[in-house]
Parts: sequence; structure tokens; C-alpha cells
Amino acid sequence: MQVLVTGGAGFIGSAVVRHILADTDASVINVDALTYAGNLESIPDTEASARYAFAQVDICDFAALSAVFAEHQPDLVMHLAAESHVDRSIDGPGAFIQTNVVGTYNLLEAARAYWQGLDVDKKATFRFHHISTDEVYGDLHGTDDLFTETTSYEPSSPYSASKAGSDHLVRAWGRTFGLPIVVTNCSNNYGPYHFPEKLVPHIILNALHGKPLPVYGDGSQIRDWLYVEDHARALFKVVTEGKLGETYNIGGHNEKRNIEVVHTICDLLEELAPENENSLASGKGFKDLITFVKDRPGHDARYAIDASKIQRELGWVPQETFESGIRKTVQWYLDNPEWWQRVLSGDYKLDRIGDKGVV
Ligand code: NAD
Repeated sequence: MQVLVTGGAGFIGSAVVRHILADTDASVINVDALTYAGNLESIPDTEASARYAFAQVDICDFAALSAVFAEHQPDLVMHLAAESHVDRSIDGPGAFIQTNVVGTYNLLEAARAYWQGLDVDKKATFRFHHISTDEVYGDLHGTDDLFTETTSYEPSSPYSASKAGSDHLVRAWGRTFGLPIVVTNCSNNYGPYHFPEKLVPHIILNALHGKPLPVYGDGSQIRDWLYVEDHARALFKVVTEGKLGETYNIGGHNEKRNIEVVHTICDLLEELAPENENSLASGKGFKDLITFVKDRPGHDARYAIDASKIQRELGWVPQETFESGIRKTVQWYLDNPEWWQRVLSGDYKLDRIGDKGVV
């Protein structure tokens, strides 16, 4: 089975690629433009690399996408390529509209042309899986309500609005053209190989370097955290076993205030990196680095996912609690400085088109 993964050099996409190569017999063609967020060093070479190929292609380039479909003849498409950082979408929304909306449209059209030309058997099992976010639902203000698959869309940021647009396009291509689609909407992910602009790695790395730990507003915003490898398992389950035309919400049942997340990371670093010059053992303490900064415009108060449908219908449950997953994550950053040092220095961009089978 050949799986075309877009955005496979990103945080979640690379976890999906690693999962497919390590835990299934499927092959992967990774289609990624390698923006600042793409890093091929997140896909280490393994014995399974013979089942892996990479194509540096922008999903806005219809001709290049069509050539990838023709050459690699995928059975499944998992679409993760996106501009994904809310703060960047506020500073420059254009790239988000281009990649998330126009790029998704291009991919749908390339996939549709390819799917229509398939033989009967392959056509019957082909799937287009669109990976999206719970941010399309807007925010929750009560403490008990949860996002379900039927919650109406009320996106707040240019990022979530562009993802909402792409979700609607995918469902329309399913309804109007019969393209076999599934959609997932997931809560906040964290884990290994996360680009340091996002909250969890940013806090870990700033703390290790004795830099301020910025927290928006009073840090009371609530996010529902999911370990990225649990998400990758859920995604592969949905693309292979999910019901056509359906949406599945994916979440970790781990609601935490941002300030709690920052405190937990500081506590773990005190335990796991006591020799660091900013730890309590050195007479300082990581928590003293916490700095409250002006809140993000339009900042959503609370996200929380009802993941009962995917649990009930596909038998997926997360393997990590927040406590176990965040411990693994902090330990991973302590054990893998060569990965994040090359990201922080920008060197990850130098030789990333190496020997990974570029077409
Ligand atoms: P990421 O920013 O880490 O990775 C995105 C990848 O897409 C990068 O490798 C980048 O090079 C690639 N890309 C960007 N523009 C492209 C283009 N025009 N053509 C081809 N490739 C392009 O993002 P992520 O955190 O891994 O998120 C992946 C997907 O999951 C996104 O669609 C995002 O909306 C969704 N999602 C993310 C989270 C989260 O917490 N990170 C939660 C739910 C859903």
C-alpha cells in the first residue's frame, strides 16, 4: 500500500511517516515544500527507509502534484501540509490562505483527476484524509461543554479560518464529486520533533537557556493536549478504517491551563536537568523565568474535544496521559540536542535535500 503524505516533514506529518514506516508495511511518498517548518531530520533513516520517498513540491503547484500522483500511484492520501502557527497568521495571513485554502483546493483537484482514472478495484478503496484542527470550532466559555463532530464552525484567527475553509472544500469535494473523503479535527499536539516556536518546545528550550518563559495574558487559556504519537496512530486508523464521508474528533482528555503546562515543564526540568545552570539546584529556579506578556489578539479561551466517536467506532484511545507524555517530551529534548540545536541555528535548512530520494 502506498500512502501519499503531505506535510510529512512537519511536526505531526513526520510522526505519521515514522509511525507508518515503523508499525505498518505501507510505503510513503512524502510531499512537502520544506518551508521553515519542514525538517527532513525529523525522519531518521531506518531499515524501513526503502519504503520511503520524498518529493519537494508545493501543494499550490498543480502540475507538480499531478506528476507525483502519476509517478507514485497512491492508495491513500493523508493531507497535513499547512501553515500552522496562529501568531504567524496574525502577522501575515496571506500564506495561510494560499497554502491552507488554495493548496488544499489544488490537492483535491489533483487527487480527483487521479482517482477518476483509477481502475475499479483501486478506485473503490482510495481515500483522501484531510487533517484539521479543533480551532475551527472557535472557543468554549463554559467549563463542561465539549466540541463534537456536529459543533458549528466559528473560527477566530486567520489560521483557524483558513483551516475551516479547507475543511469545507474537502467535504464539498466528497458531496459534489463523490471523492472518498474523511476528515479529522484534533486538539493541541505536543511531543518530539516539535518546532521551537510552539508553546511546549519554546518553554523547554528557553528554560534550558535561562531565557524568559513568555506566557500570554494570565495563562488561564485551556487547551486539550494530545501526545503526537497518539495522534499519528489515530490518523492511520481513520484513513484505513474510518467510514467514508465522516468526521472524527481526536483529543487526549487532557485539559490544562497554559500556566499549568509551563509549571509542569519547569518541575520536570528541575527533576530531569538539575545540573542546568538555571535550576533550583544552582540557586535560581526555572519558574523565576516565567514572564506574563500581552495577550494574543482574539485569543480563544478554551478548547476541549469529545473524542468518544473515534473511541466507540474505531477503538482508538490515547496511550499517554498528559503526565506521561510531557515527561517523555521533556526527556526527548534533553536527549536530542543535536536536533533542536540545528533548528535554532538554522543549519537544518542547509543540507536537508540530502540523500532522501528527492524527485
Ligand atoms: P507544521 O507547521 O509542523 O508542518 C507543516 C508542514 O507542511 C511543514 O513540513 C511544511 O514544510 C509543509 N508545508 C507548508 N506549506 C506547504 C505547501 N504550500 N506545500 C507543501 N508543504 C507545505 O504543522 P503540524 O503542527 O505538523 O500540523 C500538521 C497539520 O495538522 C496541519 O494541517 C494542522 O492544521 C493540523 N493540526 C495541528 C495541530 C497541532 O497541535 N500542531 C493540531 C490539530 C491539527
